[in-house]
Amino acid sequence: MDLNKLLFDKTKFSLMAGPCSIESEEHFQKTATYVKEAGAQILRGGIYKLRTSKDSFQGLGLEAYELANKVRKNMDMPFVTEITDPRQTSALAEVTDIFQVGSRNMYNYDLLKELSLGDKPVLLKRGFSATVDEWVKAAEYVEANGTAKALLCERGIRSFDNTTRNVLDLASVAYLKQHTHYPVIVDPSHATGRRDLIIPMSLAAVAAGADGLIVETHPTPENAMSDGFQSLNPEEFRELTEKLKGILKLFNRELF
Ligand code: PEP
Ligand code: MN
Repeated sequence: MDLNKLLFDKTKFSLMAGPCSIESEEHFQKTATYVKEAGAQILRGGIYKLRTSKDSFQGLGLEAYELANKVRKNMDMPFVTEITDPRQTSALAEVTDIFQVGSRNMYNYDLLKELSLGDKPVLLKRGFSATVDEWVKAAEYVEANGTAKALLCERGIRSFDNTTRNVLDLASVAYLKQHTHYPVIVDPSHATGRRDLIIPMSLAAVAAGADGLIVETHPTPENAMSDGFQSLNPEEFRELTEKLKGILKLFNRELF
């Protein structure tokens, strides 16, 4: 698959899916198999997790490099994973196709500068309290050297209301599509924090003009080591891709 074409051609739609955290080879392989079968083109999976509590699962770290690479090769799927420290860059570049910069690191300009020197696409998540202007300026750091391209990922912002984990700012998606050149990816899992809202918000994201989605899914969400409450189970994941097929047609976008 031509990853650049998938990410940057406006007739395509990218579906990135996988677990919040990679838990074991078996777990990741199992998830990869059903997400590919349902139609996802890109595999996600956290190796390093930045958690609010030091006592929460921090990700497998180095232990996951080999197994992630094995599964990505077995499945012949591009892989996106979060980089949390510039010192991880060269080793992580061996196993990932897209670097994800997490919400907590959107303002980490040294990390952005480091990634700008490479040539891998960077999925830049919006800081949870970042304005659109700050977010776009962070993307300019990524593209400053002219080799790495940025993809903006709307993952919800903080508000006074905790009915949902964050507030999905779909107006920012429509705005960015009209006023910038960046592809925009929506993360309905972190934006809502609720499994029951992932499908409706995914469909709404397509209508707002999103170029892709990044969705958390787990074979058994109730056993997930992180974010199970916002992860679709395999059956729900298939339901998502079925519904996406319908709406993408209306917007002249191809997923399959
Ligand atoms: C994630 O995608 O796993 C993640 C931690 O997201 P965010 O940085 O948006 O909180
Ligand atoms: Mn998560």
